[in-house]
Amino acid sequence: MNARTAASGRCHCGAVRFSARFPSRFVAHCHCESCRRAHSSAFVTWAGFATEQVEVTLGRDELAVHESSPGTRRSFCRRCGTKLLFESTRWPGETHIALAAFDEPVDRAPGGHAFYEEHVAWLPALAQTP
Ligand SMILES: [Zn+2]
Ligand SMILES: [Zn+2]
Repeated sequence: MNARTAASGRCHCGAVRFSARFPSRFVAHCHCESCRRAHSSAFVTWAGFATEQVEVTLGRDELAVHESSPGTRRSFCRRCGTKLLFESTRWPGETHIALAAFDEPVDRAPGGHAFYEEHVAWLPALAQTP
């Protein structure tokens, strides 16, 4: 039985594929307004890796960048719009990948929340839904 040493994923349309080599540095839910608005989502769950462990294996030319604030780059597929990667001068040398874009499990479960104080007002009720 081979233990996996990496996980791969893709955008919605499949034009962009990536692979991330383990170990990850963290997996966490980000509730900051910038992530929420960029992804039109209640929060974004990120898996953080050293940038050299992340490889875009298909469609590098299809990746476009949205600079959501100075020094913060959010890469997305220009064909389907899926936001995939986050890099910021605030976390030099790290690439954060949207966990939902992976096809395979990564090496850890989500371990916490970031910027929880910015969470959407309807999040607590959502969490209680059976
Ligand atoms: Zn795509
Ligand atoms: Zn965020």
